[in-house]
Amino acid sequence: MTQQTNEVVTIQDSVLIEGVMRIAERLLEAEREEPVAPFRTPEEMTELIDPFLCAEGMSSEAVLDALEQVVLATPRTCTSQFFNQLFSGRLSMATAGEMLASLLNISMYTYKVAGPHAIIETALTQHMASKVGYESGEGVFSPGGSLANLAALIMARNEALPGARESGLDARAVAVYASVDCHYSIRKACGMIGLGRRNLRLVETDKHGRMQPDTLASMIAADRAARVAPIAIVATAGTTVRAAFDPIEPIAAVAKTHGVWLHVDGAMGGAMLLSEAHADLTAGSELADSWTWDAHKLMGIPMSSSVILCKQRGMLAKHFDEAASYLFQGDADEYNHGTRSIQCGRRNDALKLWAAWKQLGDDGFRKRIDHLFSLACFTAKEIERRPALELTCAPESVNVCFEAIGKPSDAICETLRREQLAMVGHAEVSGRRVIRVACVNADMTAEDMLAFLDAVEEVAARTPDGDNGLRQG
Ligand SMILES: *Cc1c(COP(=O)(O)O)cnc(C)c1O
Repeated sequence: MTQQTNEVVTIQDSVLIEGVMRIAERLLEAEREEPVAPFRTPEEMTELIDPFLCAEGMSSEAVLDALEQVVLATPRTCTSQFFNQLFSGRLSMATAGEMLASLLNISMYTYKVAGPHAIIETALTQHMASKVGYESGEGVFSPGGSLANLAALIMARNEALPGARESGLDARAVAVYASVDCHYSIRKACGMIGLGRRNLRLVETDKHGRMQPDTLASMIAADRAARVAPIAIVATAGTTVRAAFDPIEPIAAVAKTHGVWLHVDGAMGGAMLLSEAHADLTAGSELADSWTWDAHKLMGIPMSSSVILCKQRGMLAKHFDEAASYLFQGDADEYNHGTRSIQCGRRNDALKLWAAWKQLGDDGFRKRIDHLFSLACFTAKEIERRPALELTCAPESVNVCFEAIGKPSDAICETLRREQLAMVGHAEVSGRRVIRVACVNADMTAEDMLAFLDAVEEVAARTPDGDNGLRQG
């Protein structure tokens, strides 16, 4: 019996140390040789990986082989040919932190089980709050920007409608304001927390994709005259397609006039708070009541690492604390972060960010952000220089939108993917379907961008003509 137990333990250790490292090495090799994973349909993928589960188990070696196959069949988001999303690349120290966090398997709700990680979470959120400009701010990690936005809107709702947390919503007419380019998580949250998706008012943007504060002001004034209660204004720092920044200062002035909660959705652009060269984009950051900031986007931390930050310490506990005598047992609640979170059990998304921040410091992240910004500017200039390509608009920050003249953007993106040339997405800007390149991987160089544009041009040349104009309405 004892012998059998030991055997199991030995196998488990070799799974971790040798098995995982072997697969990791193969993946790194595959990333170098084939930066874009082979294209497979869902049917082909199902055939390849055999996802079905059986009554009988398999040997560790067989499972490791199956894992290796899955790993090698996975879209490669960490290479220099992945432009498809607002995350990309691999910061090794952060990946190390993530792997160790899995090994430790703690939960972030109490100091009792999280120990040093609770203190690390406090240190990180305090540091990030100070970058927003909050003097006595606070924060807590959230499983992504969408849920950080949800938490912000819950706080805004409860502050605007006293009694909402205890007694639910009364029949009051309400409204939330965000720009037409806001992230869909805002509308989703309005639907989830009883405000109503229909009551999200979309404010027009200017030609740069930034919310127009005057339009916002008149919409709120009209709503108030009609006895509609304004719940929150959401400014976006880094919109999803154009990476534009709504002007916080004039929006904050409107929020102040009407006594409305101002939330900044900086899931994408929160990291811009670390850049001195581009500080103008986030000017007035400290005037907002709350911020969402994803470290898994511009900062290169593995999915996901996101925080909700509040200007006023105590605000999170005011709206999210619950009594649970089996859980919150002693120790100062200062480090019982479960008293401030939407979640109960919560994974450790702090350690990886902390490891990377220790390594890079504020300075390293600042250089990273500035590099991404200049990469986007370089790419835009290069597009302007090439007759077959057309820049949609000057980049607002790290995203570049363009078309191959007379060629359908969606078909080009699909060919690039199927032929393992690049992963890139298309999106809508001003009624046209454009190719959106997100410069979020700081390992990328000007040469990578040139190679990418060459690939786009080469594919466009053999793509049948087509128009990118979208029917409106
Ligand atoms: C990515 C993003 C979100 C959603 O964040 P997740 O971490 O993906 O949930 C929300 N808002 C903006 C502006 C984003 O860029």
